[in-house]
Amino acid sequence: MPTTPTRTDPLSYLGATLTDLKQRGTYFKLRVLSDEQAPECTFDGKRVINLASNNYLGLTTHPKLREAAEKAVRDYGVGSGAVRTIAGTMKLHIELEEKIARFKSVEACVVFQSGFTANAGTVSAILGKADFIISDELNHASIIDGARLSRAKILVFRHKDVAHAEEQLASIKDQPGHKLLITDGVFSMDGDIGPLPGLCDAAEKYGAIMMVDDAHSSGVLGRNGRGTIDHFKMHGRVDIQVGTLSKAIGSVGGYVCGTRDLIEFLYHRGRPFLFSTSAPPSVAATCIAAFDVLEQEPELIEKLWENTRYWKEELGGLGFNIGGQTTPASETPITPIIIGDGRLTMDFSRELFKEGVFGTGIAFPTVPEGKARIRTIMTATHTRTQLDKALDVLGKVGKRMGILG
Ligand SMILES: *Cc1c(COP(=O)(O)O)cnc(C)c1O
Repeated sequence: MPTTPTRTDPLSYLGATLTDLKQRGTYFKLRVLSDEQAPECTFDGKRVINLASNNYLGLTTHPKLREAAEKAVRDYGVGSGAVRTIAGTMKLHIELEEKIARFKSVEACVVFQSGFTANAGTVSAILGKADFIISDELNHASIIDGARLSRAKILVFRHKDVAHAEEQLASIKDQPGHKLLITDGVFSMDGDIGPLPGLCDAAEKYGAIMMVDDAHSSGVLGRNGRGTIDHFKMHGRVDIQVGTLSKAIGSVGGYVCGTRDLIEFLYHRGRPFLFSTSAPPSVAATCIAAFDVLEQEPELIEKLWENTRYWKEELGGLGFNIGGQTTPASETPITPIIIGDGRLTMDFSRELFKEGVFGTGIAFPTVPEGKARIRTIMTATHTRTQLDKALDVLGKVGKRMGILG
């Protein structure tokens, strides 16, 4: 292959970051799954107990979802062929949106390609340079990116601190711009729940738009998994509800719920909706089937919470720091094992993997410096035997590495 001898790689500076990550011990390789996303499966050729997925209800392999996807492939092919606003709106997309709107008891719903684009696309569409976004410091990256794209002024409040959010709102009360108060329903790294009642009060007091990102709460909290708005009975007080189809729902996509006007505005101004192709029909069909399962098989959510209670109790019993002192205490199926040091966390994760337990190590910048952790996520489909085996390995490796006393 001919090369230009004088050309140096203009991307060579990227290597410096990778070298730095390797020195810090937080460089990672992607783990590759070769069978189904399940509580016990094969990553990198090794059979492991999987504590790392967001597959809360085991829907990635649910027979009714599989069947719906297969039928949609046979009936409608494999792609939608265009963006929604050109020729890519299929009957299944509308059916799914109407189904979600009914499920959430809202006027209307629009589906995006992911939870990420739903958040970023909505925030950037509804706000402009003269506006304000008041945002929890631990809100998801997609909210932060949407806020940046909107060019609105960003005011961050301390995690779950309603009084601080109110202070921020008060500081701009005489400014003419629109104000958006936004929180995650469940925070993805700590598993704690956003203080919706207090934030809704604050939003109402200052005339702010209230928005909740329920990615980790859809299918997990509230009646049949209707999310944190249902959990706190905040119906009618949250203007914009975002959810994902990629976690408990078991497929991929994101959605926004609200008034008919909000949804029609997003049809016209939501950039990912306008400029990125819609989901394949099989994905829409899968999600429709998933919402049926939420309504018809409430025992899945019961089992999820039963496993969660058991897991937290046993993990705490082993002596691990599962949050609550200097980090928020988890109230959901996400349970972090706080280690602190990034390198030790990544080493712990690798040792666990060698012994057949897959728990993701998460370090800075995804979580603050000094708060590195193994994030474990419970699902409805983990068996007691699998959990006990994982606990056994966690205890053994934790002792060997000096993490447990
Ligand atoms: C996962 C997640 C998203 C993104 O959802 P995807 O459908 O995976 O793009 C958005 N917000 C929060 C809080 C999340 O945890």
